Amino acid sequence: MRRCHKCQRPLPPGSSFYQLKVMLQQGFDGVIKLSKGTDLASLLKKIDDQTAGVPEHLLEGEVHREFLFWLCPRCKEKYCANPLNLPLDKSQVPQNVSDLED
Ligand SMILES: [Zn+2]
Repeated sequence: MRRCHKCQRPLPPGSSFYQLKVMLQQGFDGVIKLSKGTDLASLLKKIDDQTAGVPEHLLEGEVHREFLFWLCPRCKEKYCANPLNLPLDKSQVPQNVSDLED
């Protein structure tokens, strides 16, 4: 049976669930920094030498990854509230309910 990848809650046929597709790709801003005495051709040769014999799927994994997860509705809400799982800023958490009324 399908289960939520986050909380393992069963997701029986016909139940509501969400597909989370994550694509991670290396960024490139168009700038190549060359160290002194290095030109583009020697940089490319250096990269070729460093990657020689490394399987293609491992090289591709360094620049592009994709993930697919199933989430139950509760885990979808939690994910959407903080997709990068950043630490919550304690200064923004109200100490009392009356703090919410400002
Ligand atoms: Zn879940």
